[in-house]
Amino acid sequence: MSFSALSSVTFDEQDANLFLVDDARLRADALKHSVLPRLRLATNTAIALVRDIYGIEVLEDSIVSTYPNFRQKRDTELSIKYEQVFVGIGGQRKDKWPGFSRKDGKPVQILPFRFAFVLDQDGIFTLLENGWLKGLETQSSDKLLRFHIDNQHKIAPLCFLSHMKPDIVWSDTLPLLAPFHEQYQFRLDKKLYDNHFLGHNYHFPVSDITLVKLVKNWVYFFPVYDAYIQIAKGLPHRLDTLIAKLSEWLRQHEDGIEMEGDLSLPDEIRANASKLAENKTRVMPALRWQVFQRDEWQCVACGQNSHGGAILHVDHIVPRSRGGHDALSNFQTLCAICNIGKSNRDATDLRRKVS
Ligand SMILES: [Zn+2]
Repeated sequence: MSFSALSSVTFDEQDANLFLVDDARLRADALKHSVLPRLRLATNTAIALVRDIYGIEVLEDSIVSTYPNFRQKRDTELSIKYEQVFVGIGGQRKDKWPGFSRKDGKPVQILPFRFAFVLDQDGIFTLLENGWLKGLETQSSDKLLRFHIDNQHKIAPLCFLSHMKPDIVWSDTLPLLAPFHEQYQFRLDKKLYDNHFLGHNYHFPVSDITLVKLVKNWVYFFPVYDAYIQIAKGLPHRLDTLIAKLSEWLRQHEDGIEMEGDLSLPDEIRANASKLAENKTRVMPALRWQVFQRDEWQCVACGQNSHGGAILHVDHIVPRSRGGHDALSNFQTLCAICNIGKSNRDATDLRRKVS
């Protein structure tokens, strides 16, 4: 298993800046052509790592799910100023998920879970969403909460390992620090079926090394998502088997687990983040988005775009080391492959000349 697909894939303040750009069309284009392809790469890497660790083909039961999924009419997309995007997996739409039943007696085709990488103005985090599907019979929803009560002692170490936190119920009758099984019993009694797990938020800039960590976090928590899927299939969960496989993989691949590591942030970055939050007014789209927009969201050398799986980069035509400026006229859009092909000493303007 190699993480090389993620090398030089990063997220930075220019990505955060995007959520402040007033131009809805630019915002949507940048998400579609630049942000979502990078998140998709993280998801694909995670799916490959799941295969490696657990021997599970994720896509047999799940689909890759994307928000926004730009398949609707262009017009409606463009009126929306997206504030959050995600790529992850969710249960496939099937004729029947026999583990669940609906109040109206029809078969359950859509599952209320989603396990994703989410990006917003603050940073990037993992999320396991277990939303309450309204049409589901009470006993179906109860199954998921019971799973948490019965297996809390096994799930807790996965939470520590993957930096995932269950969201806590707030109530006058339930202490904030009640043990988790009491939390879940409370949900069960009150029929509070929304049950999410939220990962650590890695603030911008997110390096490729951090991205690998994020992918690992997701994969370390995968056994819980898998249990939901198994329950939906009407099968027993396989938490024990998957945890044993994960333990074995960790023993072979990790020299001890970082429980704290880079979770703290340099003050400078924190300051930047809060500055951004204050600046909820219009901002100039970061130079990167202006370059991509001018070059029509494709590599100027080979013409590849995100539909062909290209990850777009901004390249200095004249490198900084040779006096090149950070100006729109000195930037060009290159895909990752053409960018590697063009060495740093090379000052070629690769833009195809329009006659
Ligand atoms: Zn190219």
